[in-house]
Amino acid sequence: MKKLTVHEADILASKFRTQIGLNPNDPINIKTLLRKLQITTMYRPLSENSYGISCKSNTGKMFMLISSNSTRGRQHFTIAHELYHLYFDKNPAPHMCGLVSTTEEKNADMFASSLLLPKEGVYAMISNEEILKHKINLATILRIEQMFQVSRHMLLIRLKNIGIIAEKEFNELHDIPVLESAREYGYDSSLYKSGNKGLFIGDFGEKARILFESGRISEGHYMELLNMISDEREEN
Ligand SMILES: [Zn+2]
Repeated sequence: MKKLTVHEADILASKFRTQIGLNPNDPINIKTLLRKLQITTMYRPLSENSYGISCKSNTGKMFMLISSNSTRGRQHFTIAHELYHLYFDKNPAPHMCGLVSTTEEKNADMFASSLLLPKEGVYAMISNEEILKHKINLATILRIEQMFQVSRHMLLIRLKNIGIIAEKEFNELHDIPVLESAREYGYDSSLYKSGNKGLFIGDFGEKARILFESGRISEGHYMELLNMISDEREEN
């Protein structure tokens, strides 16, 4: 597989948005999207540098495991990265997505970035003055990352890739402490923190309930199944 250019990733992401009925430039609510695409998703603590894994069954059922140790912004990126594996990867072999940099991993990252941060949507949030001066205000950075629910790191990489900032601005902005800056500008900090431990997205609970109600499993077994998906539920 060849390495995707930014432009190619933008085209794939834009086509994917159309295919699944999303507007071209709007922020994505990732959990709503997982429900819509019927991807069974579990959030569990994974080891450091392991962000997620996905697979597809022979019958086309899709599954994701996302690290609840990552920040929520990072989780959104991982889910978009896994969407690439599920929808575009020609040889999808389940693997833990982390720091390994194969071409397919880079392509999945590139796609994730294009999908979560559509170019036109990002442009619309940057003033003409900022574009002309090649300098983006921190307030704008915060507004964009909060709007599109992505990590600072990912936003800055995207801004560099689409030519809004150069290496120097990238480094300067990257040095600014993320949590502190969000607090100073009055934003909720949950985007920059880990979360969703034990969250389950899918119809597993519903299926367990049907089995229990029809008498095919005992109450004990039903409770056991429910406990598997509810150690610490949190919605966001
Ligand atoms: Zn991957």
